[in-house]
Amino acid sequence: MTDCIFCKISKSELPSDTVFADNEVLAFRDIHPKAPVHVLIIPKKHIDSIHHIESAEASLISKLVYTAKDIATSERLKGYKLLFNVGREGGQVVDHLHLHLLGGWEGGSPDAVAPFKE
Ligand code: AMP
Ligand code: ZN
Repeated sequence: MTDCIFCKISKSELPSDTVFADNEVLAFRDIHPKAPVHVLIIPKKHIDSIHHIESAEASLISKLVYTAKDIATSERLKGYKLLFNVGREGGQVVDHLHLHLLGGWEGGSPDAVAPFKE
């Protein structure tokens, strides 16, 4: 997608603080981190979201998760959160599939999964 910022990052048309890249995936630090360590792991191929993934592409999901695990190890994270926001109602702002790796809090994560409030 020509106007997708994560496609531009994956083609090096926009800068990023890259932590890992291979032929399928790219990982870079979030520009507005929500945790002391906040890395985004994306497929280089444009896919809008988890909701748009085809069965033939499903192995990409394990590749994203496995890459996140390797980055967590290299960042010496003992615990972390992995998050996909899906669609506007799910909090997704950038419409290029990405996995958030969040961690590095002193003494553990500030919140468990918060209770539902109406
Ligand atoms: P989401 O709400 O799941 O779509 O998350 C998108 C994330 O992308 C946000 O945490 C943004 O801070 C991050 N982001 C947006 N633009 C950039 C960029 N150019 N480089 C790194 N991270 C970015
Ligand atoms: Zn894209």
